[in-house]
Amino acid sequence: MVNHPSSPKPQHTKQATMSNPSDPILASPEFQAHLARLSELSTSIENTGGWPTKSWQAMCESGVPNWFVPEQFGGTPQSEMTKQFGYLELAAACLTTAFVLTQRNAAVSRILISDNHELKTRLSRELASNESFATVGISHLTTSRQHVKDPILKATPTSEGWILDGEIPWSTGAEAAEVIVTGGIQPDGQQVLLALPTNRTGVVINPAPKLLALNESCTTSVSLKNVLAPQELWLIGPCENVLAAGSAGGITTSALALGAAQKSICGLETEAEKRPDLRDSATELRATLERLKESVREMTTSPNSPPSAEEREALRKQSNSLVLRAAQSWLTASKGAGFLAGHPASRAVREAQFFLVWSCPQNVMAAALAEFACVSISSP
Ligand SMILES: Cc1cc2nc3c(=O)[nH]c(=O)nc-3n(C[C@H](O)[C@H](O)[C@H](O)COP(=O)(O)OP(=O)(O)OC[C@H]3O[C@@H](n4cnc5c(N)ncnc54)[C@H](O)[C@@H]3O)c2cc1C
Repeated sequence: MVNHPSSPKPQHTKQATMSNPSDPILASPEFQAHLARLSELSTSIENTGGWPTKSWQAMCESGVPNWFVPEQFGGTPQSEMTKQFGYLELAAACLTTAFVLTQRNAAVSRILISDNHELKTRLSRELASNESFATVGISHLTTSRQHVKDPILKATPTSEGWILDGEIPWSTGAEAAEVIVTGGIQPDGQQVLLALPTNRTGVVINPAPKLLALNESCTTSVSLKNVLAPQELWLIGPCENVLAAGSAGGITTSALALGAAQKSICGLETEAEKRPDLRDSATELRATLERLKESVREMTTSPNSPPSAEEREALRKQSNSLVLRAAQSWLTASKGAGFLAGHPASRAVREAQFFLVWSCPQNVMAAALAEFACVSISSP
């Protein structure tokens, strides 16, 4: 077989610089081996399609999901800095699996702040022991379908609990989940959060549509027809903004964007080793990455933590901008060969677009649009 001159060559990209060398958990040989395993599996999962069974199993075996569960439920909680830098490294190794972990953890965090102690104890223990997998379907309460007049998921209170009718527009890994943490809107406009078992009568997990990237996250919509959610499944509410309860907001979306950016920058640096003309660009992007990592470090260790909404938003805007520019730079440096579907730079470009739409607040969206249109914006 004749090799096409621009066939994608196996990429031996520069090893990422450790984000936080002083963190013993992240520096441990176990965590480093986990990253190497995820990275290795990441190459094949895009071709295989479907739920990333092996990667998720590797994630569970590594014990990382338990960093997010309190000890009393069988977890091994870690500091906010370890968790956020852990996310960053995991995203650099395999964005899909790191993203799946964030959605599982979003479900865990909502379960943990519930006053429904019986349900909280049972689900937290099941999740800590990896007996079950939970995910979220909550975007219709924040960023999705906000312009639609009628609530997309109605929750009618009855003496037995709530009757749910409508659709969860987005839920990652719904087909693999035993439980979806989701919210319905009552006729009085108040929202209620529930831990909905996926095997309840009337719950239909729709086939996952083809996405621009991250197809293996098996993100899809879920239809609910006359589903009875008894009181025992109640988590939070009813109240006006059920997701605001007990949540100070986080920087996880930015940590993942920085991890994806790191992967692209390492790819560009590998190219730059042989080509001096690429070095200024690689140096500049690396400097921005290190500066933003420093912000993450400050935000996760500051005595005034958690960071303010403004600080989080500024970090997200800059992380989004960096992940897009880093991926495009790697593609530019990889030239036509990088444009082939199997080349990691072309995958990085597709994956980078995800941050434009995932849990993207209005101000972050506006900043991206302004950057694309070269309009200056006054906010940080
Ligand atoms: C890969 C992926 C995984 C995700 N996983 C999860 C998950 O696990 N859990 C979860 O809760 N969420 C998840 N989300 C949802 C995500 O966080 C956002 O909520 C979602 O991307 C918002 O997009 P939307 O199309 O639903 O937005 P919408 O605002 O509903 O926009 C839909 C369409 O409506 C139109 N439109 C928008 N605004 C207006 C307006 N003001 N007037 C008229 N028309 C308008 C536009 O044409 C737009 O294309 C995921 C998203 C993606 C892409």
